[in-house]
Amino acid sequence: MYPWIARELIYRPLQYLRKEPVFKILEEYQKSQWFSWGQILTHQAELAHHLQSQIIPQIPAYQKNTLNLLSSLPAVQVFPQLQGSSFNWNYDTFSKLLSPFGNNWLTAYPLLSKQQIQSCLSNYIYTPHKEPWSYETTSGSSGTPFTFPVTRTFAAHFRAALYRGHQWAGDLPIGAKEARIYGLPVSSSARNKEFLKDFLMNRIRLSVLDLSDRALESFTQQLIKWNPHYLYGYVSGLISLTHFLIKKGRKPPQGLKSLIATSEVLHDFEKSILENYWQVRCYNEYGASELGILASECSAGSLHWNFEANLLELENTTIHQDGQVSGEAIITNFTNERMPLLRYQLGDRLSVLPSLCKCGRRSPCISISEGRLNNMVITPEGKKVSGWLFYYIYRDLLQLNPGQSRFQAIQTKPNQIDIYMSISADFYTQAVTLFKKHCLLHLGPAIQLKFHNTSELPQTGMSGKYMPFISQLKQIDLKSL
Ligand SMILES: [Zn+2]
Repeated sequence: MYPWIARELIYRPLQYLRKEPVFKILEEYQKSQWFSWGQILTHQAELAHHLQSQIIPQIPAYQKNTLNLLSSLPAVQVFPQLQGSSFNWNYDTFSKLLSPFGNNWLTAYPLLSKQQIQSCLSNYIYTPHKEPWSYETTSGSSGTPFTFPVTRTFAAHFRAALYRGHQWAGDLPIGAKEARIYGLPVSSSARNKEFLKDFLMNRIRLSVLDLSDRALESFTQQLIKWNPHYLYGYVSGLISLTHFLIKKGRKPPQGLKSLIATSEVLHDFEKSILENYWQVRCYNEYGASELGILASECSAGSLHWNFEANLLELENTTIHQDGQVSGEAIITNFTNERMPLLRYQLGDRLSVLPSLCKCGRRSPCISISEGRLNNMVITPEGKKVSGWLFYYIYRDLLQLNPGQSRFQAIQTKPNQIDIYMSISADFYTQAVTLFKKHCLLHLGPAIQLKFHNTSELPQTGMSGKYMPFISQLKQIDLKSL
């Protein structure tokens, strides 16, 4: 399908019917990407002011703090001193970005964890909100998955930031032919919906739930016929496909403009492997289901913070000699008025870089100093399946029963995966059945599941961070490619 047909005859009418103003917001994003420092800070201050004066006071979870603050809420400040392009970046100025009113109003609110939201979702909802909304589930790649409401405006900002990032990554228009290496829901109705979306959005898909040689070969054949403009997908999936093609001595297809890696940390050595093989640039994309696309890589190689939708704070910071500031990412989202996340602990450690990007954009440049692991299940037969499998099973469970359950899967032996759950007794049997069914389907009969119903989930991630799937087997040495 021609990109124009996918964009103008399918995507545009669908967005119109869904009342999701993606095209309008994308136009705004195309202008705001060239904002000066002063404009960026003023823009964020205005959004924060609206959030705090209009929305937050009516959300039960924030009311206690808000009552004390409202009387002292100052007017929006403009930052004329930062309008010039000669502005010299330093931590002091960075702090100004973090406190839009210049008085640290934000820090009067406590940090918000995923567990707090999960334990009482209704407390965080702005009920007067009338805009259409629907439920989404977080990916769990940065913590325990949970289900939450999102508005059409949130979805439109999400898409606009995504498509602006695609424009930076080799000038890809909406509707460009895409080969996607991504997950798939485990239930058949949700799967069919994804296949329909793939068709309408001009893309083919390789599911990371099956990265066997047979599936990779079949996808390679599809790639040759399809001749996509770009590959988009999980780092682990892109690497598996690349490894397979190198092993088979295949040449990359012609006509590819770029690769875009998402959802998992893209290490430099992985970027080199991908770029060396495919002979095109590999762009990084950083986001979270509950916040949208947080940063996209520009042509000069910097990962720019998408300031239009999210305010970034860093906690427990380290200031490096070169002026780089790193710390735990705390994020306030401006676009989901049904459930605005205020000072939300994402679970990743980020660094804000001291230099200005050569591309001319003034939004902060970040790097991900500690993020999400790219773990694979490896079966005794040698079959590789992305650890995202457990997220897709768990997402199904949450839809059946959006309770307060948590889980963690750990491959402890080549033929054993231990699944830890904190789940109510009447829901437990249903959960076990679903895990068994889909693990048998995707991992085969040689993998035994051992279930533990316990409130104490093992701490197995980096720095004690929660990870949905951990492999304790020796990792594949990707560097040996
Ligand atoms: Zn740049």
